[in-house]
Amino acid sequence: MKDDNCIFCRIANGEIPSATLYEDDDFRVILDLNPASKGHALILPKEHAANLYELPADLAEKAMGVAKKVGTVLSAGLGCDGLNVLQNNGEQAGQTVFHFHMHLIPRYKGDEKTLHMTWDPGTLTPEDRDEITSLFK
Ligand code: AMP
Ligand code: ZN
Repeated sequence: MKDDNCIFCRIANGEIPSATLYEDDDFRVILDLNPASKGHALILPKEHAANLYELPADLAEKAMGVAKKVGTVLSAGLGCDGLNVLQNNGEQAGQTVFHFHMHLIPRYKGDEKTLHMTWDPGTLTPEDRDEITSLFK
């Protein structure tokens, strides 16, 4: 169901105009208004879900299909050198709009000077490995 107080619900359902790249029954893909790079797009489900945990499983699966379809056209059309598919859940993870969305961020040679998508690698400890793998047993 859509939430009338949610800006991405209103954009996804066509109540607020957007630069739309793709639309089907479940999703609208728009250009980000404050792009990280040329072609930065957002995949928005038409149904409201705050984040990945709330998103119904069938829409989560379909979202990756849309990412493949739109990401392929974007990459070929823009001639970019890479593509990040990114999805933030929760403030700490960088989420600022609390309606699930997936970012498609085209990457261009040299853009790492201003577009930071890296981290300092840690080391997997035996304790963490055992704790985390036990969650799935
Ligand atoms: P996130 O930080 O993962 O929640 O991403 C939110 C994204 O939505 C940011 O990249 C914003 O630039 C973008 N954004 C916010 N409002 C709009 C809007 N009205 N139209 C298009 N993009 C938007
Ligand atoms: Zn919403």
